[in-house]
Amino acid sequence: MTPARLLSFDIDGTLEIGEPPGIVPVALVRTAKRLGYLVGSCSDRPLSYQRALWERLEIAADFTVLKHRLADLRARFAAATYYHVGDTDVDERFALDAGFTFLRADAVAHRRWALELFPDAGSMAR
Ligand SMILES: [Mg+2]
Repeated sequence: MTPARLLSFDIDGTLEIGEPPGIVPVALVRTAKRLGYLVGSCSDRPLSYQRALWERLEIAADFTVLKHRLADLRARFAAATYYHVGDTDVDERFALDAGFTFLRADAVAHRRWALELFPDAGSMAR
């Protein structure tokens, strides 16, 4: 059995449906889910907002957490790798403090890490 990989997304400034919109398409989240990633959000938005967002997108998110609780995910889920995608230095600090690999939601970095996450999904890496 392949150990799961966990992928956490900031919302605002990161996902295309955030306020402000970020560069990460919802399609990327769906691809991750389809490939067996544990997927969810880690944001300053209230949990009720985060849950409603996933419900609206019809994505069965595995978790919703507040940003400063990112470390809780390591206790809740045994995963081979933990990633957090975010757009700010605050995201990066919380990610690194929680033992996550930080993936920055900017155009240049995105091309690199999308390829790393989905080596076979060429269309997602462009
Ligand atoms: Mg953000």
